[in-house]
Amino acid sequence: MAKVTRPRSPAKPASARRTKPSRAVSRTESKRNARSTSKPAPQAARAPAQRIVPPNLRVGHGYDLHRLELRSPAGPGRPMIVGGVILDDPTFDRGPVAHSDGDVLYHAVVDALLGALAMPDIGQLFPDTAAAHEGQDSRDFVLAAASTIAKAGWSVVNLDCTVILQRPKLSPVKDRIRANLANLLGVDISVVNLKGKTHEKVDAVGESRAVEAHVVALLWKP
Ligand SMILES: [Zn+2]
Repeated sequence: MAKVTRPRSPAKPASARRTKPSRAVSRTESKRNARSTSKPAPQAARAPAQRIVPPNLRVGHGYDLHRLELRSPAGPGRPMIVGGVILDDPTFDRGPVAHSDGDVLYHAVVDALLGALAMPDIGQLFPDTAAAHEGQDSRDFVLAAASTIAKAGWSVVNLDCTVILQRPKLSPVKDRIRANLANLLGVDISVVNLKGKTHEKVDAVGESRAVEAHVVALLWKP
């Protein structure tokens, strides 16, 4: 077996080995150098210290689920409403069971906005035991949440919403729902995203026994 030898490290460049100055230093220059090393460098000459300021941003997540039952008068279900739009499908006879109008998306939006600021959630602000909220239009809850964050000095940067339901299809009314949310929050529709998903016919949502919504909201304070 051949003997392995380590390659020798390359010789240092001449500049690194040089210890003497390359030119003679005049007496005046020498005095100046002596003065400059004896005094601390002026403050302005130092590099500015890095100061990290956290941005005024907050993220909030909202989630809601409503049970779907046969609509009145056959059952306790209310009209099937999502994001302020009634999903009027004659082949679908179920709707959310709720104290208010049961708008799963609006409820998740409220919790995302309030959650971003660590404020009490929708159930604490608008208890479902209060007679005043019986059958209430959930747009009132969104307006109240928008007003609360605005009073605290915060604005909505964007919303990303996901509604999960097996039926009816959400795609024909997606833009109407986005427009509703944009109007209620006073933002451009381009910052309100909505995705509709099925639950692949499994579990309660997939069997049209429930509807779910997730919302992520980013808030900004100037
Ligand atoms: Zn709800």
